[in-house]
Amino acid sequence: MGLCEAVLSVVREVSDDEPVGRVRLRVGRLQGVVPDVFEFCWRMVAQDTGAADAALELRDVPVRVRCRACGDEADLDGTMIACPGCGAPSVAVLAGDELTVEEVELRDGEVRRNPALAAAAEAS
Ligand SMILES: [Zn+2]
Repeated sequence: MGLCEAVLSVVREVSDDEPVGRVRLRVGRLQGVVPDVFEFCWRMVAQDTGAADAALELRDVPVRVRCRACGDEADLDGTMIACPGCGAPSVAVLAGDELTVEEVELRDGEVRRNPALAAAAEAS
């Protein structure tokens, strides 16, 4: 529920509370988001907003790690957080723990990027 509320507040900010047709999200596997559950919870938290009927597009982001022991980078398949190369449990998560609103498409067809993402891209 907290996740949905957090996403909703970003969507409302990006859309200025105008009617939303579609929301595109990047969802890291570590978030453990179940699309059906997310959608159900979205309908509840968003019901009195312009985003109530928005279609949700959840893009799955695999978990990518860098091993602190051997320096290998790899995508993880399972839920075990360890280096697939040497088995060391000490890894830095590079991707897969995000839950990010990428774009909000208004009902009239206008697509708005999340400005926070643009700022983050410029800063890096
Ligand atoms: Zn390793």
